[in-house]
Amino acid sequence: MNYAENILGTIGNTPLVKLNKVVEGIDALVLAKVETFNPGNSTKDRMALKMVEDAEADGRLKPGGTIIEGTSGNTGMGLALAAIIKGYKCIFVITDKQSKEKMDILRAVGAKVIVCPTDVEPTDPRSYYSVSKRLSTEIPNSWYVNQYDNPSNALAHYEQTGPEIWEQTDGKVTHFVVGVGTGGTISGIGKYLKEKNPNIKVWGIDTYGSVFKKYHETGIFDENEIYSYITEGIGEDILPKNVDFSVIDGFTKVTDKDAAVYTRKIALEEGIFVGNSAGACVKGLHQLKEHFTKDDVVVVLFHDSGSRYVGKMFNDDWMRERGFLDEEITKAEDVIKD
Ligand code: PMP
Repeated sequence: MNYAENILGTIGNTPLVKLNKVVEGIDALVLAKVETFNPGNSTKDRMALKMVEDAEADGRLKPGGTIIEGTSGNTGMGLALAAIIKGYKCIFVITDKQSKEKMDILRAVGAKVIVCPTDVEPTDPRSYYSVSKRLSTEIPNSWYVNQYDNPSNALAHYEQTGPEIWEQTDGKVTHFVVGVGTGGTISGIGKYLKEKNPNIKVWGIDTYGSVFKKYHETGIFDENEIYSYITEGIGEDILPKNVDFSVIDGFTKVTDKDAAVYTRKIALEEGIFVGNSAGACVKGLHQLKEHFTKDDVVVVLFHDSGSRYVGKMFNDDWMRERGFLDEEITKAEDVIKD
């Protein structure tokens, strides 16, 4: 018999899939690490379990404890799965920008979800950073995960995702491209790959409204770069400790519209149903295409599933309201044909 002891045993070993149509015009072999194959449908299962195990090991998380985190959903899902198997309670503090699907999914796996306003300073007592920190001091036997600064986040990718990419490409990977939020994914994988081969280039995908690109290029934390944006999961208005700028060669910023349009293209042209940071990554690849040659093996990581965005970029009305849907001209023959 071949089975996992519980659902946590199915985390990792996700497939690498060649992209075809959606990368036409890019002169390289482009392979997607499709992290939706994890049980919580995102790469975050890996770091969530690692953060829980490390906190158990050094006593920060005790039997019957409550896990508290400010999470945009994917980390919450991973933490909730670990909590179910290991017997913890979960409270997640989320911003009102996040999709309703994400909140519903977290509640479905037993978590309590608290919604906070997006458009307040991180230091504002109403922000999701402040609320999660405060709750962790008020609720007895609780542990505040803090994925932004928790080193187990990047370590999970250094120990698992990086080696998987190296082995799946027989060490032939030349570039790694990924969206950056907490920085755990890019820093853990980037560190591992560069230790294996320092010539590998690591590119981060950033959003307009986020501080990463400017900070990387100038060392300046520019508050003027900060404004609200639509793309979920990537870009920040803070510098998380998990972003290791020393393993990142550069950033490119992708607009909300391009991220949304390319998320739909990935589903329609490749049959890979993934979330908006994957769309941002593929558009980012096109923006970076002069960096690639035909002998290159470019790995791009798709963080999460399209199911969390059915009411957003996969919904025509939502797209149209934001001016993201380039209206087709209705032709008589198409109407008749239908
Ligand atoms: N894409 C999505 C959909 C995410 O939820 C996240 C996590 N915030 C990221 C990308 C970025 O990953 P990381 O936090 O490891 O930088």
